[in-house]
Amino acid sequence: MSVFSHPAYDNHEEVAFYHDAKSGLKAIIAVHNTNLGPSLGGCRMWPYADDSEALNDVLRLSRGMTYKSAMAGLKLGGGKSVIIGDPRKEKTPELLRAMGDFLNTLGGRYITAEDSGTSVADMKIIGERTEYVSGVIAGQEHGGDPSPSTAYGVFVGLKAAAEHRWGRTDLTGLKVSIQGVGNVGFRLAKLLKEAGAELFVTDIFQDNVDRAVNELGATAVSGEEIFELDVDLFAPCALGAILNDDTISRLKVGAIAGAANNQLAEARHAEILRDKGILYAPDYVINAGGIIDVYYQQLGEYNAEQVKQHIETIGTTMQEIFQRADESGETTAHIADRIAEERFGHKDALGDADSAAA
Ligand code: NAD
Repeated sequence: MSVFSHPAYDNHEEVAFYHDAKSGLKAIIAVHNTNLGPSLGGCRMWPYADDSEALNDVLRLSRGMTYKSAMAGLKLGGGKSVIIGDPRKEKTPELLRAMGDFLNTLGGRYITAEDSGTSVADMKIIGERTEYVSGVIAGQEHGGDPSPSTAYGVFVGLKAAAEHRWGRTDLTGLKVSIQGVGNVGFRLAKLLKEAGAELFVTDIFQDNVDRAVNELGATAVSGEEIFELDVDLFAPCALGAILNDDTISRLKVGAIAGAANNQLAEARHAEILRDKGILYAPDYVINAGGIIDVYYQQLGEYNAEQVKQHIETIGTTMQEIFQRADESGETTAHIADRIAEERFGHKDALGDADSAAA
């Protein structure tokens, strides 16, 4: 299995593999970039089909964390870890403790937190063996779960999108469709409801749909209808790759602003959205509320008001991206990448500086 010639390898600083025979742990940690600080990113546990699928995921996700943290103005680099296995069947306290041992071998260059397949409770077990774990703050309202902060950040970014697209700061009557009303999507729906928006929701779990309908007065629609609604704004809060040739051709919205990671199926889909006049709020910028929350937890000086204020900077960052995209004609996704690269000193950004000097 190649690493340096892997298509998802992008100058990653470190890729570490670990096997603990006793617990059965097989895990990979990828540290993409530490220019701004130690790398931080979630620990995903997933029944990967093979090792190369796990490597691909960890390389891609760790790179994404560098961009997300740089954009959120955090003194953090980008990293991620993956545990190969089914979290419902193979996750044991021994395996999680072994993951803690693995983290210690990197000496703090990578700090972990919860992700798909792992929970706050799992992080506490990992924390029995290592200090390099976040998202476990004790006694806090949500026990370290970053979802409420993610939802608040999406709400802030969505408001910036509505202001830029329609010049409106009041969301009363704004029609918003939400795909996925889980941890983040439901909380976002609640904030939107409080702000006067009209909600349309879909979810593969009927319970989640019912909760949004009963508690928030949302209108339930099918999984396919969600792409065809005559609404103002679409908030993808479920899956990645949801903005693709098929769905974009059906969307009638003026803006997209949601929590899901990796919403664009391919980079070119940002151009299709721009050409259709749909304003796209880049996913890793708008969904950074969670990493901001985890960052302050990790610092050990959690102050809810300070966290809230930091999350609100997502709104000004979003405005800067929209502005620069308007001025240059480039896509919002491209502008976001450029700003993040300027902040963490990516080779392309440095290359530009070099050529400018030459
Ligand atoms: P979640 O699992 O709690 O919620 C996702 C919801 O989407 C679930 O209710 C699920 O049933 C639903 N869903 C799945 N497939 C669907 C489909 N095809 N159609 C409609 N609904 C579907 O997860 P979450 O924590 O709310 O995260 C939502 C998204 O936001 C994910 O893409 C996640 O990667 C991203 N995100 C989450 C956080 C966080 O703090 N939780 C941070 C950054 C990004």
